[in-house]
Amino acid sequence: MLSKYTGCLLGGAVGDALGAPAEFLFLPDILHRFGPGGVIDFIEFSDGLGRITDDTQMTLFTAEGILKAGNKLLTGFPEDYLPEMYTSYLRWLHTQSGFIPQQLMEKPDLTGGLMELKELFRRRAPGNTCLSALQSGKMGTIDHSINDSKGCGGVMRVAPVGLIEGLSPEMAFRVAAEAAAITHSHPSGYLPAGALAALLAFIRKGFPLEEAITRTMTLLGNWKDHGEVLNALAKAVSMASSMIGTPSFSLTEKLGGGWTGEEALAISVYCALCFPDDFEKAVILSVNHSGDSDSTGAITGNILGFLLGEEAIPSRWLEKLEIREQIRRMAEGLFIL
Ligand SMILES: [Mg+2]
Repeated sequence: MLSKYTGCLLGGAVGDALGAPAEFLFLPDILHRFGPGGVIDFIEFSDGLGRITDDTQMTLFTAEGILKAGNKLLTGFPEDYLPEMYTSYLRWLHTQSGFIPQQLMEKPDLTGGLMELKELFRRRAPGNTCLSALQSGKMGTIDHSINDSKGCGGVMRVAPVGLIEGLSPEMAFRVAAEAAAITHSHPSGYLPAGALAALLAFIRKGFPLEEAITRTMTLLGNWKDHGEVLNALAKAVSMASSMIGTPSFSLTEKLGGGWTGEEALAISVYCALCFPDDFEKAVILSVNHSGDSDSTGAITGNILGFLLGEEAIPSRWLEKLEIREQIRRMAEGLFIL
């Protein structure tokens, strides 16, 4: 089981780093630049190292918020755990902008833990909504909207919520949706986050991938304004079931670019369903499209890394992954929580 926890966070980081050079490129440009097989190895900055981006950085801050909140996560009341999550994201904001939020000035919250990792201070295309929402000084919640964003910055950071042992899939859905709603107020910004955490929680409980997805879609159907997210997932499931063995980069594009929450989750679910036993093939499929390749790579890597465990991640990627020991330690912390 520990290998599944480390696999989830390391898998997400590997997918993030692999997809980073392809973010903002159209598929024909990706194939022209990296060859007909697309991106298959780390190439960013030409040094061959796996450089993580904001997706992994924020995922680590989610994990840190979870570890600080501890038992408060189990009460079912967002007001118990959201302040810790919010503080953690404000710490991330500080790493990216130097901005010192009022809330952090009153407490010694600018040092220790993740703040000691210089790699987390590197700016790797941080999402505008995440930056502006956190800079606003207002904390969003599902009931208190602060913008109308449905970017994928909510879903790409919440995988650790699905790993909390004391949370049922229903509770994991709620916690992750609230964590995403801190910055993303549109339902298609926060519901995909809830769905990803619930999906991981169902996998944690031993359900096979397909059944975990079906059960997640049932949970999603109970939420207000779920239509866009549910439709995107249904399309992903139906495309994957008719494309077993023959997925292609251009098919992935039929699910959109992954810039929005529901598209990023749908692309990731599609890629995971196409190759449920093959981390490498699924993640390569997830990053080679005309869109937010690092986020779809990160989410696909979270799902398959959790399903298959760390040993399923190719060692040529793990060996070159930035801050892999720190990522592994964070996963171990979630495991013993
Ligand atoms: Mg990114």
